[in-house]
Amino acid sequence: MNVTVVGSGYVGLVVAAGLAELGHNVICIDKDAEKIAQLREGKVPIFERHLEEVVRRQERRLRFSKNNLKAAVRQSDAIFIAVGTPIAPGGKCDLSYVDEVVDSVAEALSDVAFAHKLVVEKSTVPVGTGEQIARRLPKRVDVVSNPEFLREGTAVTDILYPDRIVVGTDSPKALAMMRELYRPLLDGSYALRADAVPCPESGKCPTRMIATTVESAEIIKHASNAFLAMKISFINAISAVCEQAGADVEDVARGMGTDSRIGPRFLRAGIGYGGSCFPKDLAAFRSVAGELGIDLDLLAEVERINVDQRQRFLEKVRFALGGRLKGKKVAALGISFKPGTDDVRESPALDIVRALIQEGCQVSAYDPAAADSARKMLYGIESRMRFASDPYAAAKNADAVLILTDWNEFAMMDLERLRDSMRDPVLVDGRNLFSPESMAELGFTYISVGRPAVNVSEPRATGTAG
Ligand code: NAD
Repeated sequence: MNVTVVGSGYVGLVVAAGLAELGHNVICIDKDAEKIAQLREGKVPIFERHLEEVVRRQERRLRFSKNNLKAAVRQSDAIFIAVGTPIAPGGKCDLSYVDEVVDSVAEALSDVAFAHKLVVEKSTVPVGTGEQIARRLPKRVDVVSNPEFLREGTAVTDILYPDRIVVGTDSPKALAMMRELYRPLLDGSYALRADAVPCPESGKCPTRMIATTVESAEIIKHASNAFLAMKISFINAISAVCEQAGADVEDVARGMGTDSRIGPRFLRAGIGYGGSCFPKDLAAFRSVAGELGIDLDLLAEVERINVDQRQRFLEKVRFALGGRLKGKKVAALGISFKPGTDDVRESPALDIVRALIQEGCQVSAYDPAAADSARKMLYGIESRMRFASDPYAAAKNADAVLILTDWNEFAMMDLERLRDSMRDPVLVDGRNLFSPESMAELGFTYISVGRPAVNVSEPRATGTAG
């Protein structure tokens, strides 16, 4: 099939590469000239495993363009909208980028004859958007909701081996086209190809398609993200109880997560969720529910716990440093909102780094992939910190090391080397990467989330040291 994907960001680019990998001819459009120029030179602007390999391999099926939307739309069987849907004031979803694309598609199709086309919502949008889009397009265009569930860091394998493919449409013809589009994933034939990206252990092959109405598909996406965020905030709230009770949240999460009704994933205590999706999708879901007369205050509590969790972590750092942050040298390990990506949008780690700088800490940060994107986001205060080339350089002469993102590289660190490069062996772990027992043996003062602190001296324990 001929497919246009509008927007070549984290989702659009991966979707476009994935569809090319399934054998379709794809043209990927973005109004960001720099991004398109890079992609045309074969350079992939985001850090995502397997993406460069797929983009290179599919160079004949996958083209990139800045201006060619009109021609691309006319030639395509399906037009995927994968532009951003940021948060607008008041928590509403800002649909202006989606609207701009819909206007361009409507214009491109206004004076041509064509039999049938699909416009596919890939962007996360509030329920009701599909209907609004359909009203603005010719009758022979079917609007389909096909929400994306990829996770940054494992985006390519998530696209090629998804748990399910949700398709919302009232049109049997559109549903048949969507089946055809994803056929190699639904019949498992993609995975049998000699050059296929390998299926990870958690991948589904073959996968299944869940057909619903447009409205149900739109709600599935918002409700899924809201549920996952709720799971994270739930275990973070429990971590606070564990700290007061002297229990271990990791044991509690294991005990809960092995119940098949609950499951272990997203049940990991830490410094809270971030990223470009959860925060804005929760706000947008609450907002659209409110417009429908439904109070989703449950989600307000999820958000409150998430913000509190960052604050609680900062208090742990203050406590670990004897009650005072000003002038202290702190190594921040991890800035991306999660491992495997260079994305720092709404990253709790970035927020913590910002707060430390503002309190007068000397921050030395290291992230395996996100230093460049962090520099841009910290514009204006980035001169008040430095980026190191590895964790040991970041930790040199530090009063404390903070783990802010659970990159595997940090779990594999040579902890003796780390300890020996520090001024004081204090590690505040916002991701529970290490066992308190082994950290105690290594001589660290170790403070993590929802678990008893180890090697904490009396003045620190009472927070009176200055
Ligand atoms: P992004 O900001 O990385 O990419 C959006 C791209 O769209 C940008 O490159 C921008 O230049 C381009 N764009 C905007 N308006 C355009 C226009 N009129 N014409 C052409 N290009 C245009 O955003 P993203 O992270 O890829 O997210 C896209 C959508 O997918 C959002 O609705 C998001 O909620 C959803 N989503 C994101 C993820 C994720 O993990 N990032 C996962 C699932 C769903």
